[in-house]
Amino acid sequence: MERVCKALTIAGSDSGGGAGIQADLKTFQMLEVYGMSAITAVTAQNTLGVHGIYDLPLEGIQKQLEAVISDIGVDAVKTGMLSQPAVIELVADQVSKYRLDKLVVDPVMIAKGGASLLAESAQHALRTRLLPLAAVVTPNIPEAEVITGLQVSTLADMKEAALRLVEQFGAKAAVVKGGHSQGEPTDVLYDGDTFHLFTEQRYETRHTHGTGCTFSAVITAELAKGARLLEAVQTAKRFITLAIRNELGIGAGHGPTNHWA
Ligand code: PLP
Repeated sequence: MERVCKALTIAGSDSGGGAGIQADLKTFQMLEVYGMSAITAVTAQNTLGVHGIYDLPLEGIQKQLEAVISDIGVDAVKTGMLSQPAVIELVADQVSKYRLDKLVVDPVMIAKGGASLLAESAQHALRTRLLPLAAVVTPNIPEAEVITGLQVSTLADMKEAALRLVEQFGAKAAVVKGGHSQGEPTDVLYDGDTFHLFTEQRYETRHTHGTGCTFSAVITAELAKGARLLEAVQTAKRFITLAIRNELGIGAGHGPTNHWA
């Protein structure tokens, strides 16, 4: 057998299976990457919303990280819901200690239904501790606005936000995703040197739960396999577009995307 590529997700559990840890592991599996997880919080969740959030003790998160990193090894790692400032500090310490340089930061803040997945007090730690370690950070427009303090409405604003995430906050690259914009969704990648734009036609559906998690999980899986960032983002855009267009239609609310697409 060829060498197995391994990816780790540090994120929250979504009992509904559409976002968080579950979306990440399904995505890794589709891309033939061995998936591992360190769960930061458990959510009781379905397509109608988040019904409860139960943070894991810090020690439990640390033990999960040390267990998988020390034995199995990690080719690339992503972060999702980190919930509290102390979790961000812990993750930043571990990523530095084990020199996990293929770090994809999905700066998850608020679920589409409105539930807060990152304490406001954690925004500072996200900016100062985690972004400087990121190989790429993948905010949607509202997250890019919170991090940079910019108002982002036009494509030029998205480019400015991506530039700042790299030049001011220290990420090596940034993808600002256009799903929340008006009109055709364009994603903007700034790789520290060049801007790359990715545009697809908008597909109207309420089934977009977990799109951000899935998109960043594809990038992580591709980096784990040795792809360059530009190729990884191209693959992620293709994957998420198909996953949205081939909606599963599960649940009465805001359903998951289709990882089999
Ligand atoms: N629940 C968990 C555990 C998540 O990590 C995320 C995504 O980032 C969400 C919910 C939110 O998903 P969405 O905003 O796509 O509904």
